[in-house]
Amino acid sequence: MAANVLIDVEVLYYLSRDELPLHRYLHTYLGGSVVGLIAGLIMWGVVLIVVRWMPAGSRWKTRLSQTPKTRLLNQSLLAGLIGGVSHVFLDSLMHDDMHPFWPFTTGNTLAGIISVPALHIGLGLLGLFAMILWLLLREP
Ligand SMILES: [Zn+2]
Repeated sequence: MAANVLIDVEVLYYLSRDELPLHRYLHTYLGGSVVGLIAGLIMWGVVLIVVRWMPAGSRWKTRLSQTPKTRLLNQSLLAGLIGGVSHVFLDSLMHDDMHPFWPFTTGNTLAGIISVPALHIGLGLLGLFAMILWLLLREP
């Protein structure tokens, strides 16, 4: 989630300056990966700070304190990387001003391959399916 917000700060910046294109370096697989890893690192730090403020004996605090910090770091980095790469992929389906494979090549052959309403409906259904799966598989 943090990776997605950080990547779209680029769009907000260029929107506020009324400069096109809106999707530039952070909306590439290279930029999205770097920002995703940075987001993962930031969120790892946030988790380590937040766990200190949790009430003693809380289930989250107990579980987090039993998990090695390097494992938490690896999970945070992987989550950030997945967030960054998936952001670039999903945006590349609907924004023709992107160059997802920059600096290796320019252009975006995926733009328009699926309609925006179909993409939104598909993502909504995917989110609904993920929530149901999470509810079914979560620990009590
Ligand atoms: Zn975006």
